[in-house]
Amino acid sequence: MTVTQTQSTPVPLLLLGRGADPQSERGVECPGDLPAASDPDLVERARKARATLGDRVFVLGHHYQRDEVIQFADVTGDSFKLARDAAARPEAEYIVFCGVHFMAESADILTGGHQQVVLPDLAAGCSMADMARILQVEDAWTRLEEAGVAAGTVPITYMNSSADIKAFCGRNGGAVCTSSNARQALEWAFAQGEKVLFLPDQHLGRNTAVLQLGLSLDDCVVVDPHKPGFGVTDDELRAAKILLWKGHCSVHGRFTAESVADVRARIPGVNVLVHPECQHEVVLGADYVGSTEYIIKTIAAAPAGSAWAVGTELNLVKRLAAEHPDKTVVFLEKTVCFCATMNRIDLPHLVWALENLVEGRVVNRIEVDDDTAHWARVALDRMLALPGSGAVKA
Ligand code: SF4
Repeated sequence: MTVTQTQSTPVPLLLLGRGADPQSERGVECPGDLPAASDPDLVERARKARATLGDRVFVLGHHYQRDEVIQFADVTGDSFKLARDAAARPEAEYIVFCGVHFMAESADILTGGHQQVVLPDLAAGCSMADMARILQVEDAWTRLEEAGVAAGTVPITYMNSSADIKAFCGRNGGAVCTSSNARQALEWAFAQGEKVLFLPDQHLGRNTAVLQLGLSLDDCVVVDPHKPGFGVTDDELRAAKILLWKGHCSVHGRFTAESVADVRARIPGVNVLVHPECQHEVVLGADYVGSTEYIIKTIAAAPAGSAWAVGTELNLVKRLAAEHPDKTVVFLEKTVCFCATMNRIDLPHLVWALENLVEGRVVNRIEVDDDTAHWARVALDRMLALPGSGAVKA
């Protein structure tokens, strides 16, 4: 999807599913008539449409999706695994991505030109990806040039970013990373240059730099697109090793050190397992930290009778609890914490997208322009060339 950007202004409030924000990674209204959520035939309609389309469609389901959607996924996984799964199915004309916008973009970049990627609801964006817009990042790069540090800085972007941010990294000698290989990506980047600009998740960048690379908090500065001069002085930019973009996940950013203390008081002996998108204090207070795939594997391998408080998206935690009744699996936070944009994809939208495909109409296609796709692919390929990835005990 080509997005024309004219100026770097703050992201305005936008009600989910209402209106459009062409400067943001978020999408636009979902056109057409959706089936009613109360329609008792939705499951049957989805089954029928899937069966009619056969191998022409491949449905991807992110781990954070609702159960009502996950039941129709051909594969489940994190964003990068799903994009690779799609690329491994060249016979599928249509890739229906039950996830959020940047994930569908990555699938379009990694799949063949004959494959069309569909996002059932275009309002399924990602608040973290929205926090780094291309003009903001280009302005920040100019700021680094003026401070005389851009030439020695390697930009690394988390997978959870728009295609044009990935392309920016590709053009400027940088790479993409996932939460599983952020350490390897940072080590690679420090072999190329003196500093890293880490986009868009400050917490993943800080946690990886400090806990895995052994840098200090003083080696990190926060680059804030909403402050004059990006909130940093030239001296701070010159002294820092890692420049953390001021972005965060609105789900994982909600967990606090108090959440950890509270669950330890409530469940003696509980193991606290969190995602590295959580705040640094939360990760410091946890027993284990790792990617979504790591969290799933850790719970699966845990002994019966063990207790786990998990700091990640609630749909996944509830599913893990249901799949492992021999273990106690609870959500780390006391309040509900679904990813609101992930939850935009529901059964009515999935049925709507599939039935349109049956009728020969490709709705909500996500398409990345050739130049952006090329440079994003360069950044993704640099990530693929990194040595194997893993997770750490906190
Ligand atoms: S869980 Fe966080 S990073 Fe993932 S899609 Fe939702 S807002 Fe974005």
